[in-house]
Amino acid sequence: MICVTIACGSHKRMIEEWQNLANDRVKFVELRLDYLRKTPELHRLLPNRPSAVLATVRRKSDGGSWKGSEDERLKLLRTLIAEGVEYIDLESDVAPKIPRYGKTKRVVSYHNMEETPEDLDAIRNDILAHGDADVIKIATTPKSLEDVYRLIAFMKKSNREKGKPRTLAIAMTELGFLTRVLGRKWGAPYTYASFSDRRLIAPGLPFYKTLRDVYRYDEIDSDTEVFGVIADPVAHSLSPLVHNSAFAAQEMNRVYLPFRVPASELDSFFNNATEVFNLKGLSVTIPHKTAVINKLTQLDPAVEMINACNTVVFDGMNRYGYNTDYIAAALCIETAIAGRPVPMSEKSPLNGMGAMVLGAGGAGKALAYGLSERGARVIIADRDVDKGEQVAKSLGCEFCPWEERGGYVVEILANCTPIGMFPNVDESPMELKSLRGGMTVFDAVYNPETTYLLRMAREKGCKIVSGVEMFVGQACLQFKLFTGKRTSASFMRQIVRKELSAIHE
Ligand code: NAP
Repeated sequence: MICVTIACGSHKRMIEEWQNLANDRVKFVELRLDYLRKTPELHRLLPNRPSAVLATVRRKSDGGSWKGSEDERLKLLRTLIAEGVEYIDLESDVAPKIPRYGKTKRVVSYHNMEETPEDLDAIRNDILAHGDADVIKIATTPKSLEDVYRLIAFMKKSNREKGKPRTLAIAMTELGFLTRVLGRKWGAPYTYASFSDRRLIAPGLPFYKTLRDVYRYDEIDSDTEVFGVIADPVAHSLSPLVHNSAFAAQEMNRVYLPFRVPASELDSFFNNATEVFNLKGLSVTIPHKTAVINKLTQLDPAVEMINACNTVVFDGMNRYGYNTDYIAAALCIETAIAGRPVPMSEKSPLNGMGAMVLGAGGAGKALAYGLSERGARVIIADRDVDKGEQVAKSLGCEFCPWEERGGYVVEILANCTPIGMFPNVDESPMELKSLRGGMTVFDAVYNPETTYLLRMAREKGCKIVSGVEMFVGQACLQFKLFTGKRTSASFMRQIVRKELSAIHE
């Protein structure tokens, strides 16, 4: 069950939001009465309420906004119980002072805004002994992924005990996002979500529509297979949206999460990922594409050549590494040039063509390798001469210093730098005068879909290929590696375009 937290400054807004949520099929909300600017007027809020309610009056030391005295807060909590709210949140030190009354169920909570204490059992045992809880909620701040995994192990173990109140353990912040989405796997009775995608109520709290419609929270169970993307930062990634949509379209009991994994935590992630949440597959992006390689047991030869891996499949103790970027990029450029998809058995139209690849990072290496594989003569331009020369040598390509990139006559130009990416949408890695009609111009940047470079190229009469095509192509290939099934590229393209236009609204 999803409990949608409503945090508004005015009674009017709170009542409106509550009704809107009920109209959108939400059956359980948390009213954060501590957010109200005036003293809570229960006679306005509680009669004829549109759904079940958990009433919370959080004090500042626990991350809340209550401005009154503690005596006033305790009085309000008692009144809420007397008024018969379905659930009441009582902090673990306060619960023993407030007796059970009527049908109101008690969520006895512990918050730690600083850290995740070592002895989580002691906190739970104290609540079991003195709190008279129906649900035990423990929300802490993780300092590392180890803290997140400890919290998950604690939740699993606690909920295996028969006859005890169920435990909901939340690791706050982006690091602990998975505890909010996957709690049902480990017996959590419900999870919290935000009523708004614009308001930050608690760190890491997802928007209820995303949790319900993208992650399909209510369908997650102990058998749900977990996939995800590791990156840092990860919040901007479109991969959770496309993969979850494809899982949903094929009614698969699978979920795909964004995992924020700082570079220093990659070992910890891999040491725990299969045991803690039975991870089945991963997309890998900045900054892990190269570092991930030595965590794998078997590599596709292209991964070794490019020295970058963007896909990992877990099978028991085995971890297989692939690179779907290079195939996707070469295929979409080839398709644009031939005007149709070219079967692998046919000679590639790229054969013998000259291609300039701008940038020698992850995407640049994938493009250079993919185009070379199809027989193109590739020149790599990078502002870092040492890096660029080394990458070009390892892939059998030519190198050219960044300043000289406009001086070559090539049939294909591929931008693999972030130049032109939102918000710097008026920048281009190449001047108009260096573009010629008849060229094919590719841009790895997909936000915006039609970059300044692509707009100029279109004006010059070039064929253009956007980063959306590569993104969709690599995601489709990943989906096949993850599930053994195909998904439709046009379906994924539609989702990406809709999301990109929503971002820019
Ligand atoms: P990366 O590994 O960080 O490489 C970026 C490359 O661009 C580096 O060689 C970097 O040079 C160069 N660069 C950055 N800013 C530059 C500037 N102002 N002038 C000249 N060169 C510059 O990143 P990546 O993973 O390759 O990603 C590059 C772009 O491709 C991003 O916009 C990313 O979103 C996009 N991408 C798209 C897809 C897709 O599916 N469409 C897939 C992967 C990446 P230095 O090393 O000197 O900084």
